[in-house]
Formats: sequence, structure tokens, C-alpha cells
Amino acid sequence: MPDQPDVRARELANHLRQRGITDAKVLEAILNVPRDQFVPPAMQSDAWEDRALPIACEQTISQPFMVALMTQELALTGAERVLEVGTGSGYQTAVLSRLAREVFTVERHAALSEAAREMLDGRLKLTNVRYRVGDGTIGWPDAAPFDRILVTAAAPDLPETLFQQLAEGGRIVIPIGSESQQQLNVIDRRDGKPVHFRSVSCRFVPLVGEHGWDGTDRTPRTQ
Ligand code: SAM
Repeated sequence: MPDQPDVRARELANHLRQRGITDAKVLEAILNVPRDQFVPPAMQSDAWEDRALPIACEQTISQPFMVALMTQELALTGAERVLEVGTGSGYQTAVLSRLAREVFTVERHAALSEAAREMLDGRLKLTNVRYRVGDGTIGWPDAAPFDRILVTAAAPDLPETLFQQLAEGGRIVIPIGSESQQQLNVIDRRDGKPVHFRSVSCRFVPLVGEHGWDGTDRTPRTQ
């Protein structure tokens, strides 16, 4: 029955495997997080397709392939404390929570953060996610350093504030580029310096904040 979520979840996981997602734990997490519960009711029949979908506050729930790829690039072992900038629907957060020790997620829209918390803590009964409403480009200084940082919105550059909150030997995954097109950057912190070593093309909504894009005229702010 192609309409059953578990069948459609398996089809999605197979599709992601064919697109190059090889980490079995990431595929398992995708299989077990009910993406149809994170989209508006009118979009539930589209939830298992491999594409981004609109959510409230003019934002998007990320494309499953990008969620899987970014999670794979984080190379999680289960022991990490992860900072996520851009909670959105909470779907990526749910995937991270299955693969990391603790997830600290920041969202600039209070309504999205509250809906995500209701879904993750209230309905899915997750216990390892902490939530904050505010500008994630300044990070979460009182919980730093983090073993991994994932930015789920497009930045004009690597925010130095976030890099400073990354533990030595840690990794940040972040889309960097113009507002219309970015590269997914995978950046390790080695001897206190950023080492960029991989990227693919991608397209995200803008990271709006003190160390991101200006929210009104969309010029990059200086760091
Ligand atoms: N991964 C999310 C999901 O699965 O639903 C989608 C994230 S959406 C592509 C990007 C999110 O980043 C949006 O919800 C947006 O409001 C948020 N965002 C943009 N700039 C931000 C900032 N400076 N701090 C926190 N959140 C921010």
C-alpha cells in the first residue's frame, strides 16, 4: 500500500541510498522519524517525497536528501553535543536526536520553536533536545563548546562566533554562498583553525542575524 507511511518511509530510504547516503544509522533515523507529522496537514501526502516543503513563517522543512547528507557529513558516533542553528519544523532535530547525545537547537521564529518542541518533546517524547528562541548566529555561548554544529540556513560566510564555539577536533556543516545558491561546507577545527574539505551545491533559506544576512535589505552583515 504506497500510502502507508512505513512503506513510503522505506521507499524514501531506498531512494536516499541510491543517491549516495551510505551511513546505515542515518538511513535508520530517516526511516524512524515520521516526516509526515512535521508538515502542514495539507502537505502530508507529499511528505515522503524528496523535496523541501513550505512550513509556517515562510520557512521550509529541508529536503530529505539534504537532511541525510548533512547528518552523514557530521559523522556522529552518539557521544556528541550538537548545536543546530535553524530548528524549522524540528524534523532535522529529530534525526539528530537519534544519533547524538544532546542537541541544542536555536530558531529565530518563536512559533516554529514552540511547534517543534510540542512535536519532539510532547508527541515523540524526546528527552535530549534543548530549545532556544533567538539569533543562532551568535551560537549558544553558555553551552559551548560543541562537538558538532549544523547550520540549516544559508550563510554569507562562516560566522566566527560559531567557529569559536566548536570544540577542537569538532566539525561544522554549513551552507555558504549567495542568497540563491550555496555550497555545503564541511569544516573541521584543527589546531584552532578552520579546515574546509568538502562541499556540494545546495539551496537554503537565508540565515538572518547579526553574523548572517540582514533581515530587511538582505546584505551580508560584517562579522
Ligand atoms: N532543518 C529544518 C527542518 O527540517 O524543518 C529546516 C530549517 S529551515 C531550512 C531554516 C531555518 O533557519 C528557518 O526556520 C529559519 O527561521 C531559521 N533561521 C534563519 N536564520 C536564523 C538565525 N539567525 N537563528 C536561528 N534560526 C534561523
